[in-house]
Amino acid sequence: MATRQIRKVGDDVLRKKSKIVEKIDQKILTLLDDMYETMKEADGVGLAAPQIGILKRIAVIDVGEGLVEIINPQIIERKGEQVGDEGCLSVPNEYGPVKRPNYVKVKALNRNGEEVIIEGEEFFARALCHEIDHLDGVLFTDKLEEEIID
Ligand code: ZN
Repeated sequence: MATRQIRKVGDDVLRKKSKIVEKIDQKILTLLDDMYETMKEADGVGLAAPQIGILKRIAVIDVGEGLVEIINPQIIERKGEQVGDEGCLSVPNEYGPVKRPNYVKVKALNRNGEEVIIEGEEFFARALCHEIDHLDGVLFTDKLEEEIID
């Protein structure tokens, strides 16, 4: 495993749409391992492949309940609403309130190429939405609420 350089805001790669992963080969498995190590070293709770310059639809998340790896994720259900502060390893020293669904259901592939359904609530739902946004070139700063809601 190796850590990779995290791309920062201003880098064009963060604004591009990532491509579907067609085949989960050894390169993809190594990428997943490296993403996990990079996220841990940076003390993050999530990392999407474009954040290390790879335009593939892959993200890793660990909000303290274990590692979740998602390949070609799609949000298939959303419920409720939450507003909470967000930050991003690619946007240093910036935090702000973003509105997200309170619950999401995500369909994705795991590293074995099996289809998995992941349900997330509250902070985990927020992390899933944030990372999946990265795959479409969207940053949380695009979605900041105008004012903080009590
Ligand atoms: Zn981010």
